[in-house]
Amino acid sequence: MVKKIKLVIILVIVKTGGREGYNYLVIEALDVLFPLPVPPFRYLAPLNQPEGPLGARVAVPWQDRVRIGIVVAKTSVEPTRAGDLREAIGWLDSTSHLQEGACHLILELAETTATPAGLVLTTLVKSGLNSPLNHAIRAVKDVDLESLSADTWRNVDSVEPRLVDLWRKQGLIEERITLQPHVVRVLEVLKPPDEGLSGKRQSRQLRALNHLVDAGRVDSVKDLAKQAGVTEGVIRGLVQKGYVGYGEVPESNVTLPPLEQIEMPPLDTKKLILSERSFLSGGTRLSRLSFLLHTIKKDLSAGAGVIVLVPERSQLERVAGAFSTAGLPVVALSGKRSDRQREYIWRELSRDKPCVLVTTYLGVLSPLKNLGRIVILDVSSPTYKLDSGPRIVTPRVAEMLAEKHKIPIVFEDILETAEWVEGIDQENRHQIPRPKRRQFTAPLSDSPNWPLGPDLIRVLKQVKDRNRQAIVIAPRRGYSAALGCLACGHIMMCPNCDLSLRYHREETRLRCHQCEHAEGSPVCCPSCGDENLDAVRGPGTQWVASAIRKFLPDFVVARYDADHRDSLNEFHNGKPGVVVGTTALLRIPPLPNLALIGITLFESFLTQGDFRAEEGALRLLLALDELSMHTKPLIVIQAFNTDHEVIQVAGKPTKESMDNFGNAVEKRRERFGYPPFGHLARVQFAGRYQDQTRQAAHTLAVKLENSDLPPTVYGPAPATVARQRGRYVYNLLIRTETRTQLGDILRETDLGSSAATKVRIDIDPYDVGEFLE
Ligand SMILES: [Zn+2]
Ligand SMILES: [Zn+2]
Repeated sequence: MVKKIKLVIILVIVKTGGREGYNYLVIEALDVLFPLPVPPFRYLAPLNQPEGPLGARVAVPWQDRVRIGIVVAKTSVEPTRAGDLREAIGWLDSTSHLQEGACHLILELAETTATPAGLVLTTLVKSGLNSPLNHAIRAVKDVDLESLSADTWRNVDSVEPRLVDLWRKQGLIEERITLQPHVVRVLEVLKPPDEGLSGKRQSRQLRALNHLVDAGRVDSVKDLAKQAGVTEGVIRGLVQKGYVGYGEVPESNVTLPPLEQIEMPPLDTKKLILSERSFLSGGTRLSRLSFLLHTIKKDLSAGAGVIVLVPERSQLERVAGAFSTAGLPVVALSGKRSDRQREYIWRELSRDKPCVLVTTYLGVLSPLKNLGRIVILDVSSPTYKLDSGPRIVTPRVAEMLAEKHKIPIVFEDILETAEWVEGIDQENRHQIPRPKRRQFTAPLSDSPNWPLGPDLIRVLKQVKDRNRQAIVIAPRRGYSAALGCLACGHIMMCPNCDLSLRYHREETRLRCHQCEHAEGSPVCCPSCGDENLDAVRGPGTQWVASAIRKFLPDFVVARYDADHRDSLNEFHNGKPGVVVGTTALLRIPPLPNLALIGITLFESFLTQGDFRAEEGALRLLLALDELSMHTKPLIVIQAFNTDHEVIQVAGKPTKESMDNFGNAVEKRRERFGYPPFGHLARVQFAGRYQDQTRQAAHTLAVKLENSDLPPTVYGPAPATVARQRGRYVYNLLIRTETRTQLGDILRETDLGSSAATKVRIDIDPYDVGEFLE
């Protein structure tokens, strides 16, 4: 123990003595963040190494192993405190893996979401934090360690990690650590042609060897044989004689799959350059991209890079394809790429010429060179709300990043939504005229053929007669929302959740879509023993598909939802038929021969129980236009309330009706203080015992109401599904005027988490229906 303290003091002196002048008061330290749910940890900067930049990766001792972390802040400590800190082993980058702005942003997000910064890092950065390392050690001079000398470096893998860590703590070893370069194995010339190959019998070997001398290197024996026009045996002979051998060379390039060819329509509107924070809506998805083209081209020619953020990868490929077809330099980064490809893209983005990076949340903090603008497509998409970690809303991160870089941001969506259009002047709100729609509403209240009304059946028959295509959207997957007893009304419930089990008739199974509990469907009612069990409530895709098959025998009916995805290739080639699916269908590329889109139950779009429900339903109805390629299909909406405001607006989406809708939404939000007129957080309590859980939520509510600056508190209220996975769930909703207040409250209040009750915070929650009056 005594020895250890002594060594640390020596370290301190060496360190400060090495800097200019004699400054014993300040010692450089690094705040290092790991992809783990922890805050940054402080280390001493590595000794005797050129200093790396902020945002660079560094290798540090972590427990008894070595981890890669990101330097998110550089700081200094007093010598008396330095003894408590361990020393980082070595810098891994000479350029930043994360830009300075991104480092600050991660720390800021940790503050505002009251989560450890490492959790924010793992959520947003998936590249380069677990890369393989080359790590070697040797004894320091004049120290005698068994099995380790001071003269030769030894790979650390061959030594017990605990021993290495012990030596490290005692200052007995030197360490050399670097990222393993990406290498490929290639065939190289080991020995030039000589008299050993002069004979006539060796002429083919000589030819192959000369070919390799010219080529420099070739990937494999097979490739060299092919290129030199000889058999593989000839090449193997060269290897045996030692003329040719395998070597490792740094990989110069990773090949990325080619992008789709997608033509954008030319625009008749004026070519506008968006200069400030703006909102673009209306038209079709491709026409909106076409509108943006002009601005992005201008950015690129001024040497600036542009991030185009999309909510999901299905869309990413099409957007990247459209921009690249229009001649822009495009890089597509998504979870679809392999780790290697993602790492390669990440590295090259900071080096290459400015480009358009089309990415999901995975690339929002990437080190794109000269970031000059951020464009957020489909900004109101609920998919942007990440469902793990700090449950971040990705466009908010992009917005903060744009503020840090002081660059313009463009929000794009099919319609202007209250939260994102907030604070944007009229002159920066651009609405492209929308295509006219053919929309028809069919009342469900007196329909005999549930789930298909007579109108929908009639037009479906026409689709078949004319050899066209139809899409029918049902509210859910499976057969029905429940299986019930027709004699006593008993409904089969999930044993873990307060939910009816979904009935999957084809598999004769009952499944809980909340906790994934599954069981076979019973033969008779567990309550009264009657055998008359049938689907009740909420028809799903299986039910709708089988109903359509009944009315249209001999017509192709395919299904498309999260459980069951028929191939739609033939449909994309124009083959007639009907596709029945959930809203998952909104992600497929457009169909060429589409004549009809049917919605079996409009109200199902609204029951998400959220103050955003109306905007969400209108977005869905308007997005139906994207399902067809050239045709203008008839849209048939089955609804109980055919006069609903959303249906009316969707039927006639003029600028005037859209603006009226937007104003009405804004007024309602203002009245209740919902975003953008206030900021919300949900605190969720989950526990095995109902009373205890409710009490924990109640205690926090009282505490908050008695605090100095009390926020508005709603609840506690049982969650929409009151019991989930065997736990009772209670929610509190907290509202404040500003975002900062919200973060302060959540950070500074003891939320009352305990072994019995789990507490989870969700800032900007996306489903808060249970609190609406
Ligand atoms: Zn019964
Ligand atoms: Zn369940």
